[in-house]
Amino acid sequence: MKKIIGVSGGKGGTGKTFVATNLALMLSEQHRVMLVDADVENPNVSILLNKKLDENGALVTSFYPRINAAACTRCGACTTACRYHALFQLKEKVPVLIEALCRSCELCMRVCEAGAITADPRAVGELFSFKNHDRLLVKLGRLFPGGTKTARLIEAMNAEAMQQAARADPPLDFMVIDCAPGAHCDVEKALKDVDIIFCVTEPTPLGANDLKRTLELARFLHKPARIIINRADMVPFHGPIEQISEQWRAGIIARIPLSREVMETYARGESIYDLHVRAGDAGNHPVIQEFIKIMEAAGA
Ligand code: SF4
Ligand code: SF4
Repeated sequence: MKKIIGVSGGKGGTGKTFVATNLALMLSEQHRVMLVDADVENPNVSILLNKKLDENGALVTSFYPRINAAACTRCGACTTACRYHALFQLKEKVPVLIEALCRSCELCMRVCEAGAITADPRAVGELFSFKNHDRLLVKLGRLFPGGTKTARLIEAMNAEAMQQAARADPPLDFMVIDCAPGAHCDVEKALKDVDIIFCVTEPTPLGANDLKRTLELARFLHKPARIIINRADMVPFHGPIEQISEQWRAGIIARIPLSREVMETYARGESIYDLHVRAGDAGNHPVIQEFIKIMEAAGA
């Protein structure tokens, strides 16, 4: 594979999915590409690709610890060991699990000498795969409503995507990963294996602040980063973004202009790729010209 590209950004609505989906579509004109939607709480790549998902995907399971009160000696070892504070214990009582905090790390099960803790398996979400066309494979994960095991789902999807990429014949050229908004541990997991991070931002104080957080994460992961300014002509706020670009040594590779035509396309669930590339006037549209720069930065 030539390159794994992570598309990340600070907050929802910045245009990550718009960039990731259209980049994957345009790359797939001449290359074999896998597009991975790692925003498992709100996956919407399939909507932009106008693809209705099958009713059921492949189940991904995790587990919660279950404590057998009859076997529990109330020693408190599990509560002390849990670094996520997911176990709560009143004096001489059986510990209680706070499911939302549990990361399924198994430590409590390992430290319980009484063998009072067993694994209670649960389905946490599902994985979907489809071919958009011969050269574009799509994978996405969808968390079940109320679920908290986003990390488990992302890990399962990453592992499956990497295995499928390793088996692909002919080999894949690019993988494009659309991350969840933010710079939290789920985004860190999704970006673990990428070669480069494209940070999508917008020219606003909020955009600038979120961009710094994304660049901090890129530095923490030792990954090179480049900046894409979406809706670049929305307001004249380029100075701060350019300063951040210089400070963090992350070049601005594209400035995608605000385009009513593109917004209408987006609202209809179509891609700009569909609108212009297939219509044969790819070179003329300013948005497409910026995507050509993004493809060049990707090494296409
Ligand atoms: S470690 Fe085991 S025995 Fe001790 S409190 Fe926890 S569940 Fe009970
Ligand atoms: S599995 Fe890990 S995170 Fe969950 S309660 Fe046990 S020690 Fe805590």
